[in-house]
Amino acid sequence: MSKSKSRAETAARIRHLLDTEGDAVAENTRGFNRGRYESVRELDDYESLKSAARAIKEDAIERIPELIDELRESVEANGGHLYVAADPAEANAYVREVVDGGNVVKSKSMTTEELDLNDALEADGAAVTETDLGEWVLQLADETPSHIVGPAVHKSREGIADLFAETFGLDDDDRPETAEELTRFAREKLLADIREAEVGVTGANFLAADSGTLALVTSEGNARKTAVVPDTHVAVAGVEKVIPTVEDLAPFVELIGRSGTGQDITSYVSLLTPPVSSPPVDFGEADSPVAERGAAGGDGATDPHPDREFHLVLVDNGRLDLREDDDLRETLYCIRCGACSNSCGNFQSVGGHAFGGETYSGGIATGWEAGVEGLDTAAEFNDLCTGCSRCVPACPVEIDIPWINTVVRDRINRGDAADGEGSGSVGFLVDGLTPDEEPAGLDPAKRLFGNFETLAKLGSATAPLSNLVANARPVRGAMDRWLGITRERDLPAFERETLVDWFDARGGPRVSEGLARREAVVYPDVYTNHVAVDRGRAAVRTLEALGVRVTVPESTAVGSGRAPLSQGMVETARRKAERCRDALLPEVDAGRDVVVIEPSDLAAFEREYERLLPADDAERVADGCFEVLEYVYGLLENGADPGGLTTAEDAGGRARVAYHPHCQGKTLDLEPYTVAVLERLGYEVDTSETECCGMAGSFGYKSEYYELSMDVGEPLSEQFGDAERVLASGTSCREQLDALLGSPAEHPIEAIAPGE
Ligand code: SF4
Repeated sequence: MSKSKSRAETAARIRHLLDTEGDAVAENTRGFNRGRYESVRELDDYESLKSAARAIKEDAIERIPELIDELRESVEANGGHLYVAADPAEANAYVREVVDGGNVVKSKSMTTEELDLNDALEADGAAVTETDLGEWVLQLADETPSHIVGPAVHKSREGIADLFAETFGLDDDDRPETAEELTRFAREKLLADIREAEVGVTGANFLAADSGTLALVTSEGNARKTAVVPDTHVAVAGVEKVIPTVEDLAPFVELIGRSGTGQDITSYVSLLTPPVSSPPVDFGEADSPVAERGAAGGDGATDPHPDREFHLVLVDNGRLDLREDDDLRETLYCIRCGACSNSCGNFQSVGGHAFGGETYSGGIATGWEAGVEGLDTAAEFNDLCTGCSRCVPACPVEIDIPWINTVVRDRINRGDAADGEGSGSVGFLVDGLTPDEEPAGLDPAKRLFGNFETLAKLGSATAPLSNLVANARPVRGAMDRWLGITRERDLPAFERETLVDWFDARGGPRVSEGLARREAVVYPDVYTNHVAVDRGRAAVRTLEALGVRVTVPESTAVGSGRAPLSQGMVETARRKAERCRDALLPEVDAGRDVVVIEPSDLAAFEREYERLLPADDAERVADGCFEVLEYVYGLLENGADPGGLTTAEDAGGRARVAYHPHCQGKTLDLEPYTVAVLERLGYEVDTSETECCGMAGSFGYKSEYYELSMDVGEPLSEQFGDAERVLASGTSCREQLDALLGSPAEHPIEAIAPGE
């Protein structure tokens, strides 16, 4: 299939999901996300709980083989059986033998979805009923989950009411409508199935190796009933669910509900050490208390009841190979809370039916699908991670989810290039023009976006002609058709006079060395140097007004590597990071602060350079760099006189500002500095509540994602639709706000800078 046709198909699929599922997904995921913020705000020790949880998972994954042996001993000592399945076929064969065609009730388990266990059991004639409300709804509707925690987040209450009415032939008088009525209706039906079941199949959120204790975390209490009403209990879990001790559960119990659904504690946290001691429930004896029916061993209530059977099936299915993969190993730390999905702008709009693979959805799904299914499945949705990084602070086990997506993207790129699927018929044009570290045959659009630095230099050198040519109708048409760059967006306009040229032309620094409060380099990132030169000039004037001796050396006008990183071009990013390090560290060593205007470049310095450079170099770069408003804040806090800056009073009627911080700036916690500086200068600031504007660098330019990108930005339109003055820290946020609101946004530094 041609590239343009496959882009059109992707766009059509996303459009369909936005139309049919988008509203319900947005309402549910944004609600969960708001709940998370509110719930974790109450925790004094949130960061240390996350670090504790992370440390437990790091240790557990390091020791998986040893912990499985210990867990086996515990389970067998308790009277149960443990089986380690290498793949779905082995796992399903084991469970089929236990079930033997009987009636099965199941609680929610992504691992059994991964195995297609229901199909395997039903092929033997077993009746399988999902008892989680969302999973049951999907079973009735014959649909797949769209979220790892809330499988039916894409369904509205009205849609579920229609489904029940149709499935069970309910007339208008009997039809449940409210959430309470729907839940009651489902509960009655499900309890009847649980009573009749011969086998209960559950997952396991955690398994304690020291005791064989299994933790089930649910909102509905169905997992506990599934586990203990039938006499046979089968638990199916990935090998990564084993943790050393029951005590280790503590931070996870605090974090999992808060992170996933915003509940301070999940409604049901059941700790079972199966086979349990209570007798299987006999509903014929429903009136006699369980205690009188005799636990096993008379008073020995901890002994398993002789009629109980327990099987624990641990599934490898690629996990042990993931453990050996230095870049993807972190995937195994995941506790499947769903916070990365809920905090993701793209996921909030389109949900897991687009942003997901065979089983898993959301940002971390790339790691899971690459690990258990392979790169082809991950490739179907990997591009939906824009690397905005809003999932990073949301993750209770501190997984660097964007890095996992970047690494997988790099592997997909290289695989496509090797298979000849990447370049298409115009690849030769871009291959020759943009030498980089990537293989021939890489997707030309990725190569072009990843080499934006080369393009920008060419664009400035030939401006304004370059802008005229790029915007000519036939050229835009060709870009759309061959490279998938949508005609709906304005292209960046290159300035003939770069920031470096402007600075040199004005005669260099204007604050003398003797009078300088500090010395700083304004980093001429690719956008500031070639496109958004005004904000660079504003930064220079602002810092000089605060007594800083500023330079803008041409030697530092090198890309950070952010652009290739966003396309999964890791080796190219590494080379650029090395070059940027070589340019910046001499400035840092000479005692100059590096002031960064573009938040995504600062994020590269502070987050990704750890992955690209030797640790010591990465630390030195990160320590020497400051975001421009963070730097201004520091100067003011240390006594600099703001008298030369533009205050709200100077701005007259433009003193009320709507401010959208950049997604990566939010992750770096930069937003408070900007707000504090603006407020100190008298501005009234309305800060956006949106995780990401939806533009995300090149993402919003791609024709297949343009509509999604605009949909992600819709909350910003709603919040800022009436604002008279809009400020935004990131280049792409400014472009997106321009497209959404119809008027250009300014960088905050432009609001406070002295006049030229
Ligand atoms: S990656 Fe982190 S945030 Fe995402 S589901 Fe796993 S634990 Fe939760």
